[in-house]
Amino acid sequence: MRGARAVFQRGLTCMLAAALLSACSHPDPVQERKFLAMGTLVEITLYGVEPSRAKTLMDNVEGQVHYMEDTWQPWQPSALARVNSLLGTTDWFSIAPSVRPLIVRSQVLSKESDNLFDPAIGKLIKLWGFDQEPRAPGPPPDAKQIAKLVADNPRMSDIHLDGIRARSDNAATVLDFGAFAKGYGIDQTIDYLKREGVHNAIINAGGDLRAIGRHGDRPWRIGIRNPRGEGVIAWVDVEGDQSVFTSGDYERFFIYKGTRYHHIIDPRTGYPARGTTSVTVIHNVAADADAAATALFVAGPKDWYRIAKAMGIHYVMLVDRSGTVHMNPAMAKRIHFEGGKTPKIELSPPL
Ligand code: AMP
Ligand code: MG
Repeated sequence: MRGARAVFQRGLTCMLAAALLSACSHPDPVQERKFLAMGTLVEITLYGVEPSRAKTLMDNVEGQVHYMEDTWQPWQPSALARVNSLLGTTDWFSIAPSVRPLIVRSQVLSKESDNLFDPAIGKLIKLWGFDQEPRAPGPPPDAKQIAKLVADNPRMSDIHLDGIRARSDNAATVLDFGAFAKGYGIDQTIDYLKREGVHNAIINAGGDLRAIGRHGDRPWRIGIRNPRGEGVIAWVDVEGDQSVFTSGDYERFFIYKGTRYHHIIDPRTGYPARGTTSVTVIHNVAADADAAATALFVAGPKDWYRIAKAMGIHYVMLVDRSGTVHMNPAMAKRIHFEGGKTPKIELSPPL
């Protein structure tokens, strides 16, 4: 008996030593990198990639993100700024290859969203001063100027593409991909990581992200920011390959004489969309999730369901101005409210 105990104890000691050894020889499975880009904090998380390989991959992702940010910057010299000045001529010109695919995809998304997502309203964004970060202090723009830009009615469908040539029918077309380029860029970096054989990763830009695989033996857990107040309102688990994007009125705004004016503009009125404080969308493609979150924000509590259906989106959570949470049933199954504090919920029919 005593002999058996000794063997057992020796066995335990060996197991402990082996566990310690393996902890020392196996590096942390999570590799992270944070940097500022696209007006926010970008975080790369890789799971299960050997550290020196992870460094190379993260260097490349960081470089790609900076390149895309420079290319798609509408308000400083860039490929997109050149496209914008040439669209204004209404003549044919050679389009930058780095800008063309964004136009192609956002033409589809604008149409599906009834033009509530409309990257052609760059002139309105600039008139509101949201081309500056932070926006210069001062009152909202003159109502007549807003009405004029709404009447000009620039649309993505005004742009015609023919091979490497492009033109716009409408001299008022100015592209601002602020609602879309972050998602599009995240897709590029995730596609790159997948091509390089990475199976488990997140690219997160200020809370908007695409996640692939899992965090070891559990899914990735994603917090959704509380649109009014600190911290998160809820969390969801994601795994496989999914993007989580949120558009909120708290991201960029100014207050003038007690009224809050934020950066998500309703193209029908030319004013910040009313009725919504945040919209979260879960979808596979990040670019489409990004565009949809913006479109559903503009659509608001009464119309989000119709637009989500038209855009082929299956998971939506919209927080309205009174704090009521609107969701489709599939989203409701995935959402966990923080601290068990369940707000008033309105469920839509299935999407
Ligand atoms: P997001 O945070 O993704 O909803 O994007 C908001 C940004 O997209 C704004 O800062 C503007 O640059 C731009 N934007 C504002 N309103 C619209 C809209 N209705 N359609 C497309 N882009 C918009
Ligand atoms: Mg967006």
